[in-house]
Amino acid sequence: MANPFIKRYLMTAGPTPIPPEVSEAMAQPVLYHRAPAFIEVYSRCLARLKDVFQTDGDVLCFAASGSGAMESAAANLVRPGEPALVASCGKFGERWVELCDAFGARTRHLDAGWGNRVEPADLERELADTGAKVVFTTLSETSTGVVNDVQALTQVAHEAGALIAVDAVSGLGAVPIPQDDWGVDVVVAGSQKALMCPPGLAFAGVGEAALEYAAGSDAPRYYYDWERTAKGQRKDPPDSPFTPAVTLFMGLDVALGMIEDEGLEQVFERHRVLGRAARAAVRALDLELFGPEDENANVVTAIRLPEGIDGASIPKLMRDRFGVTIAGGQGRLKDRIARIAHCGYFGAVDILTTFAAFELALREAGHDLELGAGVGAAQAVFLEAGVPAPAAA
Ligand SMILES: *Cc1c(COP(=O)(O)O)cnc(C)c1O
Repeated sequence: MANPFIKRYLMTAGPTPIPPEVSEAMAQPVLYHRAPAFIEVYSRCLARLKDVFQTDGDVLCFAASGSGAMESAAANLVRPGEPALVASCGKFGERWVELCDAFGARTRHLDAGWGNRVEPADLERELADTGAKVVFTTLSETSTGVVNDVQALTQVAHEAGALIAVDAVSGLGAVPIPQDDWGVDVVVAGSQKALMCPPGLAFAGVGEAALEYAAGSDAPRYYYDWERTAKGQRKDPPDSPFTPAVTLFMGLDVALGMIEDEGLEQVFERHRVLGRAARAAVRALDLELFGPEDENANVVTAIRLPEGIDGASIPKLMRDRFGVTIAGGQGRLKDRIARIAHCGYFGAVDILTTFAAFELALREAGHDLELGAGVGAAQAVFLEAGVPAPAAA
């Protein structure tokens, strides 16, 4: 039997831990989706989603994991046989390539390399070269910790007369992506990362230009047809063309209420401090960050594991012996990096706990380090910032 004194700490970038208040809301009886009690929750969620996306446009909701919202973008924006430009820098960016291929685009892949940011100048060159009318890219590349400069990439896309669709599945609600201010045409997200809910809801913030472009294409789509869902959600009261995931909406309503109470700017500030503390801990342990040192990369901290130890053993030791679940590397980074997430329902002590376990695991794996060095450096950051705790509901 599992040792009950090994408490569980979920420090992965999705699913992330959820506040007890959210769990509690989801334990309520299932509501009929056309009953007034649900319509009230649904309407409030749609309004609150607009606040988090920072848009007056539609935030379309689907019952799917985050990739479902990505698929909706490909299904609505890819025109078979026409060029589509994917600007990637890791595993999730490459998912756009697979999606564009699946929907019949002539896909051009601008690969910035795992651990790098996408350079706006490179995007400009590729757009001129391909004449693509749609760009697909990533805000927070969860496989490497990199956060792209979406504002600059959007500007470049628009100057070339292209639309831009951004995968913000792990970034939305952790780092800024003000959709309307930056003019981002499509922002996709999921419920299970910074939005503090279980997996199962996918969101696509879709601006007018993208809706119009989609309406001009007869590429096949049904459940993910943006127009169908936009039409339903725009009704008064709003309606979903298909059964919404009612239980998840009940949780989402509470989670978005917590974000509203904390204040979106304060949510970003909390993530800044968490990211800063995690990077300070890495430096103090004489380890290397994977990817550029970046004040905005506050979603996931990716750490190069020291040479000479079994990389796979670190997440395993942390989970099995200390109850702390972090992620290792994906794809080509398997066993080479450790990823500590801090997007969503996280506060200072979560970071301290995680680095305490990380240090112990590194020691057990045979890496020489000064115990407490990482934890101490993170504590110093928190002390200076005023310790950030998740908002109370
Ligand atoms: C988690 C994630 C996704 C979506 O993954 P799902 O497993 O489909 O929810 C997409 N992009 C990024 C950057 C992610 O972090």
